[in-house]
Amino acid sequence: MAHRVLIPTPLRPYTGQQDAVEVDGGTVGEVLATLTSRYADLRRHLYAEDGKLRHFVNVYVNDDDIRYLDREATALKAGDTISIVPSVAGGSAASDTSTSPELTNAEIERYSRHLILPEVGIDGQRRLKGARVLCVGAGGLGSPAALYLAAAGIGTLGLIDFDAVDVSNLQRQIIHGTPDIGRSKLASARARLSALNPEIRIETHETKLSSANALALFKEYDVILDGTDNFATRYLVNDACVILRKPNAYGSIFRFEGQASVFATTEGPCYRCLFPEPPPPGLVPSCAEGGVLGVLPGVIGTIQATETIKLILGAPGTLIGRLLLYDAWSMRFRELKVRRDPECPVCGDRPSIRELIDYEQFCGVTPQAGVSASASAGVEETTVEQLKARLDAGLPTFVLDVREPHEYQICRIPNSILIPLGQLGTRLSELPNDGREIVVHCKMGGRSAKAVKLLKDQGVDAKNLTGGVLAWIDRVDPSQAKY
Ligand code: ZN
Repeated sequence: MAHRVLIPTPLRPYTGQQDAVEVDGGTVGEVLATLTSRYADLRRHLYAEDGKLRHFVNVYVNDDDIRYLDREATALKAGDTISIVPSVAGGSAASDTSTSPELTNAEIERYSRHLILPEVGIDGQRRLKGARVLCVGAGGLGSPAALYLAAAGIGTLGLIDFDAVDVSNLQRQIIHGTPDIGRSKLASARARLSALNPEIRIETHETKLSSANALALFKEYDVILDGTDNFATRYLVNDACVILRKPNAYGSIFRFEGQASVFATTEGPCYRCLFPEPPPPGLVPSCAEGGVLGVLPGVIGTIQATETIKLILGAPGTLIGRLLLYDAWSMRFRELKVRRDPECPVCGDRPSIRELIDYEQFCGVTPQAGVSASASAGVEETTVEQLKARLDAGLPTFVLDVREPHEYQICRIPNSILIPLGQLGTRLSELPNDGREIVVHCKMGGRSAKAVKLLKDQGVDAKNLTGGVLAWIDRVDPSQAKY
């Protein structure tokens, strides 16, 4: 009996870019075994060394999590769809209107299209005016979310960020403009939001969210909107929301796919119920490494803003207990059930996490930008200056580029040979064994460190180029464009 297995974007490099695969089997376990024998590289992404499914990979049959069915022994019937859902680099807050502020005549005019909706009306708009919402991040997700929340009349809008606007942000971070390049994101966002709606109060927190400041910051708000772009901050936001019982309007994006939900309400599950542990560092690329369709955060951030407004209005039908999946490339929305896990370490019946922990350590990342500790450990490195000197001296060298073909088109090291990381295991025969030194690089050094490890396991010596092709352009060949 053949079943359709839906493959999410981060795993498609291991299935020849297919988004769905037909696989035979009577149970989920049989289907996954056949799938991973057909696509061997997929196996190490789905299964840990002990042969168990990894914790950050959830498997669904139709819209049910197999953890609440018979796990891998779950029997399949004709027409069942199996979804693999990995984590990707993310209660009613309705207040009593008697304490909500009155609307001024200017506000009644401004919000008139809300006021004539019976579901919002004067009372609802007063709730929005009395509400305090915190956007964590003023980037891809925070941009559309903050714009719509400001326009909708959220009385106090908090923003946390510590970055400056870069030209590469503007493809998706629509709250910022070209004249803002180099300016702090918060200064830029404040100017744009105040111009949009001078009636609201904007509170900016120019700081990196951490275990030391999260509780004090979140305590002052009614709803937290998670617009973060890394796992450490995502778990931090989740745990702080659970500890304080603040609803978390969650969103995350990767390439063409997004997720949204509402976590940490009194009745619903939290992010850890869905993904108890983060993926090992480096396994799931960041948006900087993997790319993101610019309009995607527009859709997901707008969904987060919608859910935030509904939470404040006390509306039914929020995403509590549901994970919404959006694939922009096939233009499909799907949704999966998420249950509160009684064993959840933070919101379960016997929580083991009662205060905030060290999330960078929990996620296995070092403060070094982009390169994880485990990816670079034990890997021999070389610098772009050393490589340039080798090439200039005519020393026998094989420069291996493990990026993707579309990245190679943007910029490259002369005479480098392209074998994308996902294909390296099956194309080892293309590497020289004539004593040439093999220098491996990618964009910034993360993927190539993994490639050097993979080669070492196969008995091939190679060096990792520290900083990747970006360092080459910065320090050797500034004539090329960076990305
Ligand atoms: Zn939980």
